[in-house]
Amino acid sequence: MQDCHIHIERGDYTFAWIGRFVDTALSRGMDEIWLLEHCYRFREFVPMYDDVCVRSPYIDAWFHRKAGVLSLADYLRLIDEVRAADFPLRIRFGLEVCYFHEQEDFVRHQTQGMGLDFLVGSVHFIDGFAFDHFVQLWDGVDVDHKYRRYFEMSIALAESGLFDGIAHPDSIKLFGHKASFSLLEAYDRLAGALAAQGMYAEQSSGIKRRTGAALGMDPELLAVMKRYGVTIRTASDAHYPEEVGLGVRQLYKMLG
Ligand SMILES: [Zn+2]
Ligand SMILES: [Zn+2]
Repeated sequence: MQDCHIHIERGDYTFAWIGRFVDTALSRGMDEIWLLEHCYRFREFVPMYDDVCVRSPYIDAWFHRKAGVLSLADYLRLIDEVRAADFPLRIRFGLEVCYFHEQEDFVRHQTQGMGLDFLVGSVHFIDGFAFDHFVQLWDGVDVDHKYRRYFEMSIALAESGLFDGIAHPDSIKLFGHKASFSLLEAYDRLAGALAAQGMYAEQSSGIKRRTGAALGMDPELLAVMKRYGVTIRTASDAHYPEEVGLGVRQLYKMLG
């Protein structure tokens, strides 16, 4: 089994820290783990967020508490060391990159020649709206409009050709808000774009753990993805070693 979305952000770049992810993965029957960081953790990616910080004082304050604390060189050094070592399962390293249409060139430039195993794109901010931070941010929000923009951005993410996969592809549902219109057309366009680019989509247990939302993507979205032949990869979106592999067995079963 594979867990293709694991954050290592809460510890130092040491073998002891990586070993804790490996141990949990083995105990839960994983034979492959994909480790990553949010790109905003790295100083090199801070300028990519200028626009969204200008749009929202909330995001600006949040960003400056969390962002720009690491250097890419340190991460790449860790990756080299782990690759040269012997671990009892396959480890891949990547980045989770926030998608902003205006920043495609920045991402292309910044990630070129980095030698990572994968780049996964995520919609975390809809214009100036941090929709997945906490439910109160949704007060007074036009839900249909946010759904439309979320899927427009997701389709543009896929069409950008920058990424190997898309993370948590319908995470907009995490607090239970629903669009009043059918999402089938958006699902169709998203799956078509992912298939055209040879990208994978995550089947993730992350938002269920956070908010109690249904496990994995909407069954209709999963069916459309399958119809287009999109590769589906299971993911915990773990932020602690203890979360590695959580829900992955169940996610596999849902893939049939
Ligand atoms: Zn994410
Ligand atoms: Zn993540």
